[in-house]
Amino acid sequence: MKHHHTDLCAQLESQLPDYLDGEARAEICRAIEAHLADCENCRIVVDTLKKTIALYRSAPCDEVPRDVHARLVRVLNLDDLLSPR
Ligand SMILES: [Zn+2]
Repeated sequence: MKHHHTDLCAQLESQLPDYLDGEARAEICRAIEAHLADCENCRIVVDTLKKTIALYRSAPCDEVPRDVHARLVRVLNLDDLLSPR
C-alpha cells in the first residue's frame, strides 16, 4: 500500500463523527470525500464506522461486543456519535 497514515488522515478522522452524522460543514465533507478517493486506509475506516454505526442503531447495545465498542470509542472519540438518541 503506497499511502501511509498521515497527519491529514488524523485530521480528517477527527471530523468523521460529524461527517457520518451529516453535521460536518460542506467544505469538510468535500475535503473528506476528496481524501477518501485517494486514501484506501481512510476508506476502510469510514466503511467500518458506517457499518458499526448502523449496527449500533439497529441493535441493543449489549449485542455489540464490548471490546469493539471500547476500541472504537477510544480511537475515534465516538462517545457522542454512538450514544443512544
Ligand atoms: Zn487517509
